[in-house]
Amino acid sequence: MPSSSVADLIAAPQFIASPHCDARPPGVNINLIILHAISLPSGEFSMPHVEALFTGRLDAEAHPSFEILQNLRVTAHFVVERSGKINQFVAVAERAWHAGVSNWQGVQRCNDYSLGIEMIGDESSPFTAAQYRETARLCRALMLHFPDISRERIIGHSDVAPGRKWDPGVQWNWAHFHRSLGHIRNIGVTFR
Ligand SMILES: [Zn+2]
Repeated sequence: MPSSSVADLIAAPQFIASPHCDARPPGVNINLIILHAISLPSGEFSMPHVEALFTGRLDAEAHPSFEILQNLRVTAHFVVERSGKINQFVAVAERAWHAGVSNWQGVQRCNDYSLGIEMIGDESSPFTAAQYRETARLCRALMLHFPDISRERIIGHSDVAPGRKWDPGVQWNWAHFHRSLGHIRNIGVTFR
């Protein structure tokens, strides 16, 4: 008798449309994934303020640290919560504004050709096992769809904007992530 597993429940990310995106340059080859980390306010691991920032509805008065974020127009394609729940804000064909001024192996403007995945986290707390598993599953699904994304082309925001960006930071264990990536059997993630 069929029953819904955890994998079934999280198969389709919740889609929350962000206006912080536009068209990619014509004919661009999507061949890079950039991992990020975010918490709003810093050290708080719930979604509402992140969702508000990414959809242009952040209340600048909700926290003193939000004032400088007021006119920021940013979003990633995906956000992976501490529970492993995946949210999607921008369709993969569109250019999400996540990397800013950036350069990978001599190619500027990484937003043009990359996908951005934010993970809820900071520089103090370890990411959760569910985040390693679900970020890996999402990456494997994206790698199937975009064959030029190799394991070596999944990198951090700090790699494409060194000195300017710290994320995903010291708590993100790349070796653990690569093991997770190698262990995925049931990908089971769909996306727009
Ligand atoms: Zn970032």
